[in-house]
Amino acid sequence: MDAAKEIIVGIDMGGTSLRALVVNAQNEIMAVEKQPTNVAQKPAGLIRDLAAMVEDVVAAAGLRKSQLRAVSIGAPGAADPEHGVVYNAPNLGWDAVPLGAELKKLLRVPVFVENDVNVGVAGEHALGAGRGAQELVGMFVGTGIGGGIISRGELYLGMRGAAAEVGHMIVQVDGPLCGCGNHGCIEALASRTAMERDVRAALRAGQKSCVLKLMEERGKERMTSSIIQRALKRNDPVMRKVMKRAQYFLGIAVANVVNLLDPECVVIGGGIAERLGEDFTAPIRKTAYEHFLRRHDAERVKIVSGTLGDNAGGLGAVVLARKRLKK
Ligand SMILES: [Zn+2]
Repeated sequence: MDAAKEIIVGIDMGGTSLRALVVNAQNEIMAVEKQPTNVAQKPAGLIRDLAAMVEDVVAAAGLRKSQLRAVSIGAPGAADPEHGVVYNAPNLGWDAVPLGAELKKLLRVPVFVENDVNVGVAGEHALGAGRGAQELVGMFVGTGIGGGIISRGELYLGMRGAAAEVGHMIVQVDGPLCGCGNHGCIEALASRTAMERDVRAALRAGQKSCVLKLMEERGKERMTSSIIQRALKRNDPVMRKVMKRAQYFLGIAVANVVNLLDPECVVIGGGIAERLGEDFTAPIRKTAYEHFLRRHDAERVKIVSGTLGDNAGGLGAVVLARKRLKK
């Protein structure tokens, strides 16, 4: 087959930014474009933004649109890959938007739509830290905590496509309220949002921390991964304590997942894992191993940081699109 016809654009569609990759038949990235997500507009406006971005990134790779085989999108919400519909994406203010069909009308190429965390996990599985594993769990720690399961080499979606919500495992029934309405989900205890809440609470209680000053200096309204990294470098006592607690809960969550599924590999991804690497993952691994039911050969279960960083979603979207095109 003509190799130029194997070009696919993979898009990681986040609530704050859009990232598009042009990927060739060897799964090499030929061009990357990033822009903020303009969520203030109606879905049709955002879909036009996506179409324009695809055209831009294809041109940036020195290609013509006619060379494009497909577009594949990881969308932040419940996605129906069969029909290309995005349901319930609160970060976008979308419900039941036929993203695949609408974008296909504008671009005239097949458009695939998947859940954003599933594409990230598929990316790390096919091309990143989880390469070669048949049984794998991905856990992405960011604003929230997302998860994905690979079983027998394929994404495990469950009966309704609602599986692998590892971020909403309840680990403290009387714990803090989660965005989902339950209490004590791992996301409400160990996401970046939860860590920021705990840092602010410590400050209100009179503890000393440089976090707010760092945020002010850097012009950040939120405690981003880079702020966390800087505060830890300065040995900020509040940040250290909050991080240690989050890592403990994440370790418990990994142990729960491993006791349930016994995967070969757990990939810890997302912005914090990417910035801190082993400093983030090692304590999680230690706590997880201590809570495995089967401990004598615990180390056979690899617990590792993701390696694809911000490109995990776009690359995974492309990998999944290739599988769908072959069907
Ligand atoms: Zn929850």
